[in-house]
Formats: sequence, C-alpha cells, structure tokens
Amino acid sequence: MKEFAYRRATEVRDALALVAAGDGARYLSGGTNLVDLMKTGVEAPARLVDVRFLPLDGVREAADGGLVIGATTTNSDAAAHPEVRRRFPALSEAILAGASGQLRNMATVAGNLLQRTRCGYFADPSQACNKRVPGSGCAAITGEHHNHAVLGWSRHCAATHASDMAVAMAAFDAVVHYETLDGPGELPLSEFYPPVGDTPDRETALPPGALITAIALPGSAVSPRSRYRKVRERASYAFATVSIAADLDVHTGSARIALGGVASRPWRALRAEAVLREGPLTADRFRAAADAELSAAEPLPGNGYKVTLARNLIVAVLTELADRDPA
Ligand code: SF4
Repeated sequence: MKEFAYRRATEVRDALALVAAGDGARYLSGGTNLVDLMKTGVEAPARLVDVRFLPLDGVREAADGGLVIGATTTNSDAAAHPEVRRRFPALSEAILAGASGQLRNMATVAGNLLQRTRCGYFADPSQACNKRVPGSGCAAITGEHHNHAVLGWSRHCAATHASDMAVAMAAFDAVVHYETLDGPGELPLSEFYPPVGDTPDRETALPPGALITAIALPGSAVSPRSRYRKVRERASYAFATVSIAADLDVHTGSARIALGGVASRPWRALRAEAVLREGPLTADRFRAAADAELSAAEPLPGNGYKVTLARNLIVAVLTELADRDPA
C-alpha cells in the first residue's frame, strides 16, 4: 500500500479545508470499501481525512413528516432505527440485505452511497478499465460480464452499482445534502448518479470536495408496506444479481419501484410505475408493467438472464404487495 497521511477532522469546515488543500485527499468514514481498494492499488490517496467522528450521525424527524439520516450513521443503526423500520421498511430491509453484520457496523450511509463498483476488472489494476483509468478501455464488454448491467450502460462501461441501500433510497425519492466551502447544497438521488455515457469515472454529481452531511427521506414517500427483495448468488452475503425496492397503493395504482444490480445506478422503474397507474391492478397489468420497464434492456451476450430475472422479480413483488393489501 502506498504511504498516505491521516488527519481526523473535528468540524465539517475543517474537513472541507483539509480535502481542498491537497491533491489526492479523500474523505474516510467506515473505510469498508476505500481501504480495500487502497490495499490493491486501485485507490492511492495522498491523504485521508477522517470524518467519522464529525457530529453528523443519527436519525431525526423532518418537518415534512419524513426522516433525515445523518451521513455518518452506521448502516446497522440506520437499519435498526424504529422509525426507519416503521415508515420505510424497504430501506431497513435493503440495508440488512447488504454485506455482513460486521461490515454494517462499520459502514456509514454516506459511504454506502459512494461505494465503488465490484466489477472484477475495476478491482484489478492490470486490466483495462475506463472507470479506473479513463480511455484505457473496458475489459468487461468482451470478457466476463454475467453480472453486469442490462439497462443504461454504454460501450465505455457496463458496471453495476453495488449498493442495496441506494436502491431503496431511489424508490423513496431521497435527497442528498452536502456541504462545500462555498456553502450547502442538495441533490435528489435521481440526479446524484449521472448516466454512465462516456465518462464512467465520473460517478456522482457532487461538486469537487463536497462532503455529504445527510440524506433526507421525504414525508410524501412514507411507505409502511414497502418491501425490498434481492436475488444473489449465495444466501450468506453477496452483491445483488437483481434486486427491487417497491411499494404499491392498490387503491390508486400509485407505485414506487427501483431496481438494483441492473444498471450503473439505482434504476427507478418509471415506465412500470406509469403502466400501473393506468389500472386495474391485475396479474396482466403487473406483467405489462414489468415488460414496459425491461423493454429498454440491452443485455450483453452473457447476461440476458438478468432481464428475465428482473421481469419475474417485479411481477412477484407487485403480486405480493397486492395480496397483502387487497383493494
Ligand atoms: Fe471498468 Fe466499467 Fe468496464 Fe468494469 S465495466 S472494466 S468498471 S469500464
């Protein structure tokens, strides 16, 4: 591992200034992804600015009836919070579906949003990877890609986003709050992850040096019946092959659906939601909603199974939600 400097920030402004002062400085929180990548040489920051002990943790009430989750709240604490479980159960389930208990005790919600892809070529500095080295190519397109994206990818990168938590947050229209030396800002999660296009190395729309301070879940998205379901290659812990966060109001047809494991970012299933609003909510309607969403899929030669899997998962979860709350 390359030698690096370490500073523990005591105030948000202190952290912002420390990162702004040096090329290659990075924020460190739980370190569950960044430190692994430093060990393999994928990441080589000259300085780590530890933000874990800033007063940014905890879950609090929002004025609109939603919740605000502090950036350094651990995944374990966010998942276990009684109001997260009551108002946004899909979020709690999504967090608990990710990683192991030990990792969730260390990882923070802001770090979870910023975790890097688990594409094997990205993690191997000897391989061509546009995300790690822009312009170097993409070894996955012609190589091993059975767990890569089927929606929204480009010839420059077909990696998937690794977070379960972010999928639920996408369904709930979460808003990311951040600070910069020029003042605070916010980004809806729908704009937080830019389309992959020809710049897969640009993974978020955060301004340079910005520090995430909180994630807000709006009161309008409170979904006590929401569910998160995840298909993965082993039951103990693994990243999603395909996952879904969903809520369905059987009286209005209003739905919130986001998919994981299928794109470079959490994939909000707006086409499916539109079909459901047309009602009535029959089995045929659920299949039509899933087909509408997956009509945009462009699988690679080795991952077409994900399209079938995503379609079946959408239908299964919508059916479950409807059966739990018959109109
Ligand atoms: Fe790199 Fe993306 Fe290609 Fe994977 S899919 S090798 S992360 S450019």
